[in-house]
Amino acid sequence: MSVKENVELVEERITNARERGGFGQAVTTVAVTKYVSTNTAQQALDFGIRHLGESRTEGLVEKQDALQGREASWHFIGQLQSRKVKDVVNRIDYLHSLDRRSLAKEIQKRYTKDESLRCFVQVNVSGEASKSGLHPEEAISFVESLAEFDKIEVVGLMTMAPYTDDPEQTRPYFKQLKELQSTVQSHKWQHAPCTELSMGMSNDFELAIEEGATYIRLGSTLVGDERNES
Ligand SMILES: *Cc1c(COP(=O)(O)O)cnc(C)c1O
Repeated sequence: MSVKENVELVEERITNARERGGFGQAVTTVAVTKYVSTNTAQQALDFGIRHLGESRTEGLVEKQDALQGREASWHFIGQLQSRKVKDVVNRIDYLHSLDRRSLAKEIQKRYTKDESLRCFVQVNVSGEASKSGLHPEEAISFVESLAEFDKIEVVGLMTMAPYTDDPEQTRPYFKQLKELQSTVQSHKWQHAPCTELSMGMSNDFELAIEEGATYIRLGSTLVGDERNES
């Protein structure tokens, strides 16, 4: 299918999932372009996508430079090594993977814009060893501790659910992230409005929306995966 058809189909699926969920929230689609060319990323913009996500510094720099002048918000969604912070933070609008104090410190040091960087704190709700993010029990105190960094605004929480053939199994993880969000919000910390939830990928985004996702990160189902095409 073409990117155009994918965008249309995804929009329809989002609308239906929002209706089923009943939260009535706005849902922003971040097109994850890590496995596709700049040309494909550009097509996503041509067909109405306004948010692009990359998980590697090189991919971010390459696509952003090539698409200069196009209206787009840039999201960094992958694990961010501290030594790469300086190459990334001043290029992006959102960071989805804030998961440790050393990273926060480095952002504080390297981020040069006046307003603060919009960050999601990544939580490993499933506890899978292969996934990064904080343990749920640590997440609240970590968010609280970020108050000392005036370059960081905690706009929300992010998680990756385990991959499964039965997406329904991921629902408890999305519910758990939503509950954590409510706890953070109840503190009314000025640095952490935490109004957003970044959860849901190609395999499970409808469930994530039903459970309150406001940002979904879609790669394969939206822009495809060109790694094995010749
Ligand atoms: C690759 C990636 C995605 C998109 O994955 P798909 O399953 O292709 O939609 C979303 N979030 C993160 C953090 C990723 O690394």
